[in-house]
Amino acid sequence: MNQRESRKCQNCRQEFWIEPEDFTFYERINVPPPTWCPECRMIRRMSFRNERTLYRRECNLCKKNIIAMYDSTAPFSVFCYECWWSDKWGAETFEQDYDWNRPFLEQFRELLLKVPKIALVHYPPNTDVNYANFVAKDRNVYLAYSVVECENVFYSYSVDKSKESFDCLYLKGSEFCFENTDSENNYNCSYLFRSRDCINSSFLFDCANCQNCFMSSNLRNKQFVFRGQQLNKNSYEAKLQEVIAGSYESYEEYRTEFKNLMRSSLHKFANLVKTTNCTGDNIANSKNVRGSFGVYNAENVKYSIRALREVKDTYDLYGGLGELLYEGTVTGWGSFKLSVFTYASASHDASYIDWCQNCSYLLGCAGLRNKQYCILNKQYSKEEYEALVPKVIEHMNAMPYVDMQGRVYRYGEFFPPDLSPFAYNETIAQEYFSLTKDQAFVRGCRWRDPDGRDYHITKTFYELPDHVKDAADSIVNEVIGCAHEGKCNEQCTTAFKIIPQELAFYRKMNLPLPRLCPNCRHYERLAQRNPLKLWHRTCMCDYKVRENGGTHQHHPTGPCPNEFETSYVPDRLEVVYCEPCYNAEVV
Ligand SMILES: [Zn+2]
Ligand SMILES: [Zn+2]
Ligand SMILES: [Zn+2]
Ligand SMILES: [Zn+2]
Repeated sequence: MNQRESRKCQNCRQEFWIEPEDFTFYERINVPPPTWCPECRMIRRMSFRNERTLYRRECNLCKKNIIAMYDSTAPFSVFCYECWWSDKWGAETFEQDYDWNRPFLEQFRELLLKVPKIALVHYPPNTDVNYANFVAKDRNVYLAYSVVECENVFYSYSVDKSKESFDCLYLKGSEFCFENTDSENNYNCSYLFRSRDCINSSFLFDCANCQNCFMSSNLRNKQFVFRGQQLNKNSYEAKLQEVIAGSYESYEEYRTEFKNLMRSSLHKFANLVKTTNCTGDNIANSKNVRGSFGVYNAENVKYSIRALREVKDTYDLYGGLGELLYEGTVTGWGSFKLSVFTYASASHDASYIDWCQNCSYLLGCAGLRNKQYCILNKQYSKEEYEALVPKVIEHMNAMPYVDMQGRVYRYGEFFPPDLSPFAYNETIAQEYFSLTKDQAFVRGCRWRDPDGRDYHITKTFYELPDHVKDAADSIVNEVIGCAHEGKCNEQCTTAFKIIPQELAFYRKMNLPLPRLCPNCRHYERLAQRNPLKLWHRTCMCDYKVRENGGTHQHHPTGPCPNEFETSYVPDRLEVVYCEPCYNAEVV
């Protein structure tokens, strides 16, 4: 077995480590070890994923007006869903002979500009999905992104198998939820953070299996807890009468109270549920998942985000499922043995592919369906393909692509940022690793100045009624000005509408009308979450910090010696505990 080795990142020049098991993985999928550090690789992948920056434009085939993630000035054709999947065209017609006098990636860039792109990422079947992107098997989804097998989900991000929910971020298996973040299996709950299996509750942090609780944290299997106080049914209901639901002004106070409550609560170093040997955050039912975020039912996965369900032996994935995947964004069902890809579904044994479906044995292909043995979209026989691939790989190493920043891309390296069809600030990279225009240029990324908005605002945010009960039905006809007025750096759309289904939801749940546009609301939720980064820290448990009377057998006195990887940055004020100390206190 190889020893662990340190490398210097080609991009940020920081040192990073390649572990013995990493070498084994890279050998299994025939790529050399990476030359960029895990974080730089993560950002690079993200800069190829535009989820929420959508434009009106026309389909270049049927000429219909459509919504697309590419604007009308994109230097390639964009087809609507129906046209792209139709047999009116085929990406094989854009085939290129391999040119041994030019770097592979230069030739691939040419191909990418010729092959039409699909307007949005919609994985069928979907019904009534509007202004939504990265949706799969959904019904009635609106202004929501990365939503899988859901019904009636609105203004949310990363939601799986949920129904009737608005304004959630990383939610699973829930119904009638509002403002739930990093939560699962909740019913009729609003403002829940890192909580699961809860019913009829609001403003809960780190709670599990609770019913009828309000403004509390670190609870397990409780009922009728009000502001941390255990009550009986009658007194809980009496207390709840004092809560002014439905009023914006009151909710602002509750939200401030909730923020303070979260700050003073006990924090487990990471949200790991039923995991073995995992590091990262928000990981469930998994084994050997390292340095990953938002992953469940996974095994032997590293440096991945939003890997949904059955993912195995995979490194560097953003969004998807499959086996033996490396460096890519978006895989659909039935994917295995893929390296360097931006969308692939039901495909295997392929590298450097963009939007290929039901394909295998491809190198450097885009937009293909039901193909095998192709290089730069050109069809070869099995024998020709097998003879050619090693030569192309050798050529990629002998004549690598070098970008404007002098970074070198040999075989196995992900696409250079200048190949992204998106500007940096259109992509999710901007959501987690925000840059200014100048910083983006320095890194070789494009930037797109937001379009001037000229909405005719019919109601300002301060003209909205304080209480939802005073909202007239006609509110759905108004164009409401966002309280941020486009002055933030949060893709503010400056104005928004309240749709009828949303108004009905606010009334049913007794929630006040929003004052911010959906994008600003999304950024507000993102800001609450920990960054996609890990720090090595020591448990903060010292009986001087917190004395609940729990027994901490591994350190009967004095400070706890346990160390861990956590997404809580060291200078944060919260008390962060290791698992045994946390378990001793939160029972
Ligand atoms: Zn780096
Ligand atoms: Zn806004
Ligand atoms: Zn501890
Ligand atoms: Zn302790």
